Amino acid sequence: MITLSGVTKSFGDRPILRGVDFAIAAGEVACLIGPSGSGKSTILRTINGLERHDGGTITVNGLLLSDRTLPQIRRQLSMVFQRFNLFPHRTVLENVMEGPVQVLREPVAEVRERALALLDRVGMAERAAAYPSQLSGGQQQRVGIARALAMRPQAILLDEPTSALDPERVGEVLSVIRALASEGMTMVVVTHEIAFAREVADRALFIDGGVIVEDGPARQVLTAPTMERTRQFLDRVL
Ligand code: ATP
Ligand code: MG
Repeated sequence: MITLSGVTKSFGDRPILRGVDFAIAAGEVACLIGPSGSGKSTILRTINGLERHDGGTITVNGLLLSDRTLPQIRRQLSMVFQRFNLFPHRTVLENVMEGPVQVLREPVAEVRERALALLDRVGMAERAAAYPSQLSGGQQQRVGIARALAMRPQAILLDEPTSALDPERVGEVLSVIRALASEGMTMVVVTHEIAFAREVADRALFIDGGVIVEDGPARQVLTAPTMERTRQFLDRVL
């Protein structure tokens, strides 16, 4: 579903991705872990075409990422950010409806119905008329996930979806992600929630210095890593 092969990316003369290889199958949940500055966000942004890679290839659903295919690929991927990026002057419902109506040009009545169902799914139906500023961070993030789902993506890329939240709000967002995982949604999740990743992810990828150092079943990589660098990182964060 998402394949990276020898992907490189520099910012100025600083190489950030130094040949990243991995493949995520449809229905798979992969967590991407690694130290600050190792290139995790850059990988997600590159897959989604928010950054352009310098070398190597990225394919999404068999489409090779290029300027020509980018619009098509973007439509298949939704991104959830650490900061919720909701439109402040739109209600919760309007935020979820925005993409399908403005970008996909789908009929408003149909989109509204789907948006309300999605808000229900993330436990936010009662707040459909609220504005983002009236919500907690956890609630905003759940709306952010509903908004991502409203585009009917083939996969969702989540960049530290809980790290801007108060600790008591983390659980409610993780349970939404857990439910999506059990429904078979393909996801790549950058996270520092190791216990959560161990439970929910099928795969764990450990990145350090712009390369994937270890890639394997989440349980194994996050419990008994084979690489010394992975072990040191886990010792520091656990
Ligand atoms: P964190 O855990 O702190 O979010 P990360 O693994 O997501 O880290 P990235 O955001 O991918 O790391 O950044 C990797 C490196 O690339 C960092 O050294 C960062 O300073 C640099 N970098 C990222 N974006 C840019 C940019 N637009 N211009 C220049 N340098 C950048
Ligand atoms: Mg990051």
